[in-house]
Amino acid sequence: MGKRIKKENLKRLFDDISKEYKVIAPVKRGEDYVLEEVKDFSEVALDYPTTILPAKKFILPYKEPIFALDGGEFKELIPDEKIAFFALHMCDANAIGRLDLVFWNDPYYQARREKMLIVGISCKPIETCFCKSTGANVLTNACDLFLKADGENYIGFSMTEKGRKFLSQLYFGPETVDVREVKIDYDEKMHLDIYTIGRRILEDYNNPVWEQTAKRCLACTNCTLVCPLCYCFDVIDETFIVPNEGQRVRCWDSCLLLSFARVAGGHNFRKDLKARYRNIYTHKFKTFVDEFGVPSCVGCGRCITFCPADIDMRETLSKLGGA
Ligand code: SF4
Ligand code: SF4
Repeated sequence: MGKRIKKENLKRLFDDISKEYKVIAPVKRGEDYVLEEVKDFSEVALDYPTTILPAKKFILPYKEPIFALDGGEFKELIPDEKIAFFALHMCDANAIGRLDLVFWNDPYYQARREKMLIVGISCKPIETCFCKSTGANVLTNACDLFLKADGENYIGFSMTEKGRKFLSQLYFGPETVDVREVKIDYDEKMHLDIYTIGRRILEDYNNPVWEQTAKRCLACTNCTLVCPLCYCFDVIDETFIVPNEGQRVRCWDSCLLLSFARVAGGHNFRKDLKARYRNIYTHKFKTFVDEFGVPSCVGCGRCITFCPADIDMRETLSKLGGA
């Protein structure tokens, strides 16, 4: 059941959320859109193609101190902030839902996640989107509240108690709207049978596609940095010049880097780029599916948009024979 809200009343919803949360929303910067803290509703881009970086930059910051050594005393640094994402696309909200499966017992992630509000909004899929193939085009309880476009206005759906609190406010109309399923439906440029392809990755381990694509790949890691579901991290101890002071940080890493699979003694399990490149796909479409039942890809298309070598993940996947 949904409730209608007029476009001009979204400001009231935003202001209400701002009273309780630090609000992160899409904002236009030059030709691009970014997620950043927004204090004034007029800055929010409601109709945007995609943001450069996903919500991951706030949920799993690229460099996060996890504990500090302060004068010889260890202090755990558990985050304590209430973040609300406003106007996230369905794929990006569902990416957070899939991160939840991985970080369910991570105290730093959970501290942020438990206090978080996610307000999703309808999108207009662009050429690089393939969320239907990855099953990320359907509303799930990753969103607390979802705003489905309805002509010039919206219909709000609440999926959690946090969302219901806002949906019960007077800026939403009193009448209810019966909608069986809320999803983003469109003609994908290339529909992929992701689960069949995932199985074929290991069955057809030496498919020439890995060699061919690795020859073009620059190992720049752009694709993993912009991916809402690439969450690998490294842990580094930093010592300061002052005695007995320092911190342990975790920071983004990428399995495309040569150092990623290097272990003590210098052995490297994935020395060549072909193996590292194939590993991304094996993890996203086979082993993650085996463990959690969904791929660690929501088809947001960022890795396609930001690849300087014009490598299109959909083409690589289709060459494995499941298109
Ligand atoms: S692999 Fe590419 S399309 Fe899939 S979620 Fe990551 S960036 Fe988006
Ligand atoms: S963005 Fe493209 S070139 Fe860079 S590592 Fe990813 S696939 Fe390779």
